[in-house]
Amino acid sequence: MTTSTLAREALGGCLCGGLRYRIAPGGAMAVYCHCRMCQRAAGAPVVAWLTVAASRFTYVVGAPAIYRSSETARREFCAVCGSHIAFRPVDRAEIDVACGTLDDPAIVAPSAHIWWESKIPWLALEDALPHHLKGFPGP
Ligand SMILES: [Zn+2]
Ligand SMILES: [Zn+2]
Repeated sequence: MTTSTLAREALGGCLCGGLRYRIAPGGAMAVYCHCRMCQRAAGAPVVAWLTVAASRFTYVVGAPAIYRSSETARREFCAVCGSHIAFRPVDRAEIDVACGTLDDPAIVAPSAHIWWESKIPWLALEDALPHHLKGFPGP
């Protein structure tokens, strides 16, 4: 995995504009997640996530609806338009923000694939990024 830096704050929000957020500058890392839960939650073959310290992420307009998707995490989304905004682990002080909801999704490029074991076969990917069959291997 490769850590990048957001040199300036990043803004984003949901499709309808009812939720807006900001991410303060600092370290960031992006990955593609191919897990079945992300696929279902987003209705998409893969979700690119930007991971930042939770303390640097703030909703500035609206408040998300929350779905406790597992014992260890909750997913935050817009109750009006359904945009899937964030994945928030309960045991780590970080948050994964859906790259597609950023005003400028190009600010950080994903540096790895995770949960490659459930990548959908028809999704053709030609990058040379490392891929992990499950989540990131432990330390
Ligand atoms: Zn919305
Ligand atoms: Zn996932």
